[in-house]
Amino acid sequence: MTRRIAIVGAGQSGLQTAIGLLDQGYQVTLMSNRTGEEIRNGRVMSSQCMFNNALQTECELGLNFWEQDCPPVEGIGLTVPYPGNPDASLIDWAARLNKPAQSVDQRLKMPRWMEVFKQKGGELIIRDAGLAELEELAASHDLVMLAAGKGEIVRLFERDARRSAFDKPQRALALTYVQGMTPSESFSRVAFNLIPGVGEYFVFPALTVNGPCEIMVFEGIPGGPMDCWQDIKTPREHLQRSLELVRRYAPEQAERCRHIELTDDNGVLAGRFPPTVRKPVARLPSGRCIFGMADAVVVNDPITGQGSNNAAKCSKLYLDAIVAHGEQDFGADWMQQTFERYWHYAGDVVTWTNSMLRPPEPHLLELLGAAQASPELAATIANGFDNPPDYFPWWVSPDACRYLIGQHLKKEA
Ligand SMILES: Cc1cc2nc3c(=O)[nH]c(=O)nc-3n(C[C@H](O)[C@H](O)[C@H](O)COP(=O)(O)OP(=O)(O)OC[C@H]3O[C@@H](n4cnc5c(N)ncnc54)[C@H](O)[C@@H]3O)c2cc1C
Repeated sequence: MTRRIAIVGAGQSGLQTAIGLLDQGYQVTLMSNRTGEEIRNGRVMSSQCMFNNALQTECELGLNFWEQDCPPVEGIGLTVPYPGNPDASLIDWAARLNKPAQSVDQRLKMPRWMEVFKQKGGELIIRDAGLAELEELAASHDLVMLAAGKGEIVRLFERDARRSAFDKPQRALALTYVQGMTPSESFSRVAFNLIPGVGEYFVFPALTVNGPCEIMVFEGIPGGPMDCWQDIKTPREHLQRSLELVRRYAPEQAERCRHIELTDDNGVLAGRFPPTVRKPVARLPSGRCIFGMADAVVVNDPITGQGSNNAAKCSKLYLDAIVAHGEQDFGADWMQQTFERYWHYAGDVVTWTNSMLRPPEPHLLELLGAAQASPELAATIANGFDNPPDYFPWWVSPDACRYLIGQHLKKEA
């Protein structure tokens, strides 16, 4: 008999999994609190830069519709100014990625994927899911997955205090989608500017609803000078504030911004949330269990740009696990075990991302500085974004880190 699976949330993980399941012959119900048109005409949600391994999971499902049109992100660059002197750099390097990354505005991607889902025979229900809807879905499906990102409903999953390092937001976030920015020199990149005591500014090319653009991302330390979006009332003011911050804290980048304008009035976002890990199984009042995926259970600060990457990888892992489980029951044990396999990967992403939110440890400052003298070390750091477990153990072990630095510097000598 055809197995029935329900997914709540039509974002990166929900849609990717729903389409993958349809391809495997499952009957799939997808519940979204917004129509494709509402998503397309709504506000930007993310900067969604995705690296090669994650992009491949989309490609395997034939969902890489924007590969030709989306400008590639060819590398990663890091600049750290001298404390108190933004005009001089303490650290400044850039390295190419082995394979390019891409950022396709979710306002473009999700509505198109919703169409694909419907064309392949999926049932799309537009409703804001609450307990009643989850009970209904659980009674009529073999498995219900909650892929509702940062939606309120994910609070059904208990916060995992052991795995959650923070209980408060660690950055005040803002996005500014712009056109007319001068391209970065020699190759396109995520240009990271790490401003001690203030926060981070990074910028990279993307594809949005009206063509190629650049996405400016601001990560302000709470209470600091980059935590400054509360009084902004209009998109124009948001752009002005973005420019002020870049001129003040990343003057080198300000040169690129002489002619920028917003992509559209919805190309701005400001907000904050605490990075949180949740327990992956929630029991409904009926006793039936639902299974959490991607941001619903592991939500990281965007400082390392991993959320969409995680969502795509979580989707692939869950999809393969569902198919491998065949006709057996999807009980709480299976859910927990499947999540633990995802956590084996995502745990490293969380550790690495959280380390970037704290004042840098001495060995990490040495590492980032040494990358300036060793292009190979810079490339190792840059390519870790595609698979953060590659940073271990040296990211967290001062001894291993200094050994790695020594090996690379010896080669350069
Ligand atoms: C400022 C910012 C910058 C970011 N930059 C990057 C980046 O550069 N790279 C990267 O990889 N990631 C980035 N991310 C993170 C990334 O966008 C998310 O991690 C990713 O979209 C999560 O996918 P998901 O499937 O878990 O949830 P989402 O994509 O958030 O999808 C959840 C969906 O569920 C729907 N929903 C919510 N509640 C309900 C409900 N009750 N009923 C029905 N539907 C519901 C929502 O409307 C939404 O459509 C960024 C995030 C932010 C905030």
